Amino acid sequence: MTDSSVDAPSVAVADGTPATTTGKSLSVVALRKTYGDVVAVDDASMEIAAGEFVTFLGASGSGKTTTLMMIAGFCEPDSGTITVGGHDVTRLAPQRRNLGFVFQQYLLFPHMTVGENVAFPLQLRGVPKGEIRRRAGEALEIVGLSGFAGRRPHELSGGQQQRVALCRALVYRPPVILMDEPLGALDKKLRDQLQTEIKAIQRELGLTVIYVTHDQEEALVLSDRIAVMRDGGIEQFDSPRELFERPRTPFVADFLGAANFLPGRVERGADEDTLVRLDQCGGLVRARPQALAAGTPVTVAVQPCRLRAGAPDDGFCAGRVETVTYVGSLVRAGVRVDGGEAPLLRLEVPAGRAPVVGERVGVTADPEDVNLFPVEQGG
Ligand code: ADP
Ligand code: MG
Repeated sequence: MTDSSVDAPSVAVADGTPATTTGKSLSVVALRKTYGDVVAVDDASMEIAAGEFVTFLGASGSGKTTTLMMIAGFCEPDSGTITVGGHDVTRLAPQRRNLGFVFQQYLLFPHMTVGENVAFPLQLRGVPKGEIRRRAGEALEIVGLSGFAGRRPHELSGGQQQRVALCRALVYRPPVILMDEPLGALDKKLRDQLQTEIKAIQRELGLTVIYVTHDQEEALVLSDRIAVMRDGGIEQFDSPRELFERPRTPFVADFLGAANFLPGRVERGADEDTLVRLDQCGGLVRARPQALAAGTPVTVAVQPCRLRAGAPDDGFCAGRVETVTYVGSLVRAGVRVDGGEAPLLRLEVPAGRAPVVGERVGVTADPEDVNLFPVEQGG
């Protein structure tokens, strides 16, 4: 695997030029890749602005890596176009795209010192010696490894090795840095710490980053925008907040917020709040105004953190608290709703306001937090 080039870069920035001056946006249009019968990536399109942190988020096998590898040039698309800074790079060799990479495996050169590893991409680009030393030193300082230039990779921890990999990717200031699950091999605490550092470095240097992860929390923490991938397609491409508060499909509501889903039917779909009669408990849920005709069958979706437990006669459903689990400052409660098929609603409430097992409660949500998805008919 090469993260750098022997050829002089023909696209985008001249070496050393800050990414933002010429590295405009990256765009992907109708990208498709198949392996025999498997459609790995299906009609993926997106525009990424300079300086943006974009994450591909999806389950294993959803096409994240394949999309990233096509952008990198290690995998040739069946059809579609990739442009970097306005240049079509779709058929260009990886080393001529001048993009930086960080992968899950550190891929440092084991026989070279940290300093040599970091200097390598600059040497390839013919940067003068003195400048290499200065820039490698600066880059190591950015990732907090100033004193480590003389060590070899095996003398570093996993987190430190991954910092070196990051350092090597950003030392020549590529217009875009691609990262495929770079923190996947690290334990949670270190992952959290490096997430914060990566985000800070990205902001400070104005880097454009495309990041791959299957971890929702990681995606929410890092990203300006997230492309939620599903079966090779982009299900929704939006800011973390939009995805969480205005999911466009039940899949997104489930994937990002583990939403509760309840079947119902629109009772009133006027300009005011939309009212939905729930099938199972017969309760009436108030949702924000949405253009849905009365009688439309819908799936009601509410995130656990947006549900509240109150007095039994207060709320759209009543039920009995079946489980209470402490998770730090939050409590997860399961409420078995009265009625027919008795769904279990999952609530996440502040510890101070937790109900107790066996208690009867009414469940409410603000209309603003209730998402409705029309049920597709005859499909
Ligand atoms: P992700 O990174 O989201 O886990 P991938 O992009 O690696 O997903 O894979 C998407 C789909 O394409 C999967 O079904 C995977 O099995 C298939 N796939 C990926 N690479 C190859 C390959 N080299 N040969 C055959 N199938 C592949
Ligand atoms: Mg992958």
